Amino acid sequence: MAARTILVLGGGVGGLVTANELRRRLDPADRVVVVERERRHLFQPSLLWLMVGRRRRDQIERPLRELVAPGVEVVEADITSVDPAARSVQTTAGSLAGDEMVVALGAEPDRDAVPGYRDAALDFFSPDGAAACARALDAFKGGRVVVAVAALPYKCPAAPYEAALLLEDELRRRGLRAPSEIDVYSPEPAPMPVAGAAMGAAVVALLEARGIRFHPGTKIERFEPGSREIVLPDGTRVGYDLLAGVPPHRAPAAVRESPLAGGTGWVPVDRATLETGHERVHAIGDVTSITLANGKPLPRAGVFAHGEGLVAARRIASALAGRPADDAFDGVGYCWVEAGAGRAAFATGAFFAEPDPALVLRGPGRSWHAGKVLFERSWVGGRLERRLAHAGLVVGGRLLGVTATA
Ligand SMILES: Cc1cc2nc3c(=O)[nH]c(=O)nc-3n(C[C@H](O)[C@H](O)[C@H](O)COP(=O)(O)OP(=O)(O)OC[C@H]3O[C@@H](n4cnc5c(N)ncnc54)[C@H](O)[C@@H]3O)c2cc1C
Repeated sequence: MAARTILVLGGGVGGLVTANELRRRLDPADRVVVVERERRHLFQPSLLWLMVGRRRRDQIERPLRELVAPGVEVVEADITSVDPAARSVQTTAGSLAGDEMVVALGAEPDRDAVPGYRDAALDFFSPDGAAACARALDAFKGGRVVVAVAALPYKCPAAPYEAALLLEDELRRRGLRAPSEIDVYSPEPAPMPVAGAAMGAAVVALLEARGIRFHPGTKIERFEPGSREIVLPDGTRVGYDLLAGVPPHRAPAAVRESPLAGGTGWVPVDRATLETGHERVHAIGDVTSITLANGKPLPRAGVFAHGEGLVAARRIASALAGRPADDAFDGVGYCWVEAGAGRAAFATGAFFAEPDPALVLRGPGRSWHAGKVLFERSWVGGRLERRLAHAGLVVGGRLLGVTATA
């Protein structure tokens, strides 16, 4: 049988999981090729620890080539266009084509969507922004801290709330809590609205217990970095001394400008199979749009990119082996909510449940925080560290009755 080539576009969470699972399942003669512009794979959840000075950048990244399974090829290049009909891409390293293609190009911050945001906010959605936030915190003497969601959509629904809780903890640790106020502004009606009213109320309770004020349903018209103010549509001005920002997100240009993009710019997929409607082209993770039974989108989170990547890889391997492809993505997910003081809460549940996702929030507690640290190390630790952390997660997960394993 002639060797086949599977192109995996993007080497983030979804692309990495997909490529490694394909490598495990395919004939060694088949090629698995990951196209990724960054040399180093970033564990994005740890940006929250980087922003409060609890991590260095080199602790939360690892060269992608060290993380792919032996035999996975990595092409370091920028993808400039995608042709799903030909299953080919144009890149800064030339054109590439495959027998199968998996699109895992994620979501990119759109920092110019809201006027003034780019210059005003310490944007912890990038390593540079998170590091700048940590430096600003070092120089901070107390005052008004604002965490602002500039506009929707954004990835990781818990991130703004975790940021506020971690900043609060850090100010307390540094003796700056008393002279400081902390406010969270978001256009959302409640934290993590897709997860239902009870989840929103639980997260608001976490914020209130720490004296953090939450301002739901707040659209932001513009940011004025000169006067250090946020301007709301009714003209209200909100002053700040330290502004941590969550940028709105969009699909990368190569996807938005391709026939893959639905009306919104994201890639619509079958939620069970991750098929795009273009023959032998799957899409997974943040770049996709999946609408839940309650009409809300499946959140953009690594846990889903991970689960979808496994399903896409297994379906492709089955199809190439001439077997029926029966793996299906079930929408089960989990999420740590870092609460500061060495504690985290842990949300887990079924997002495809009807009429609403059925989720449970446990904690906050130290064991959940330890689980998140293990998860980080299982992802971007050294080789031995990754193995030990993974084993720790499996054992810990069994003891705690959850399946949050890498
Ligand atoms: C602060 C923060 C905290 C988070 N916390 C959590 C959490 O606790 N739990 C959770 O589940 N998720 C969390 N997330 C979200 C999670 O990181 C993402 O949802 C996940 O990474 C999505 O995986 P993906 O493979 O779809 O995209 P990504 O992991 O973003 O990967 C996309 C890849 O495509 C590459 N790429 C894009 N365009 C091109 C191009 N044109 N050419 C070449 N390469 C390209 C990018 O460089 C990137 O490596 C967090 C995110 C942030 C920012």
